[in-house]
Amino acid sequence: MATIFSRIVAGEIPCHKVAEDEEFFAFLDINPVAVGHTLVIPKAEVDYLFDIDDPKLGRMMAFAKRVARAQEAAIPCKRVGVAVMGLEVPHAHIHLLPIAKESDMNFFGKKLSLSQEELAEIACRIREKFE
Ligand code: AMP
Repeated sequence: MATIFSRIVAGEIPCHKVAEDEEFFAFLDINPVAVGHTLVIPKAEVDYLFDIDDPKLGRMMAFAKRVARAQEAAIPCKRVGVAVMGLEVPHAHIHLLPIAKESDMNFFGKKLSLSQEELAEIACRIREKFE
């Protein structure tokens, strides 16, 4: 059965898309820990990030870097923090979070509560800066 993220890539489930190319897709996390919290995934389904072959993993990180540059330009932050867990959704993904301090990476605290309109506006701002 397709993962929820494959269904997002296929357009079967809505998302706030940030960027895509032939191999990778980036969209806002539905339960953001920070404003602009984005997930980068490979379009082809694979569960564990480190099962991706080296050349493709390199391309994925280069794509994530372009997304991070767009986040830096669009969202006030000191830098973009990176996290990989993957225990909830069995489709490899890299979390990219615009942060100003370590505690902005708190995945275990209260999530931000942003409306669909706010999420759409944030995604639009990042999308516009993606090169
Ligand atoms: P983890 O697998 O632990 O890295 O966490 C999975 C992440 O995917 C969580 O931060 C969820 O909020 C996020 N997530 C789950 N479903 C969706 C969805 N439909 N759209 C966007 N993000 C999602």
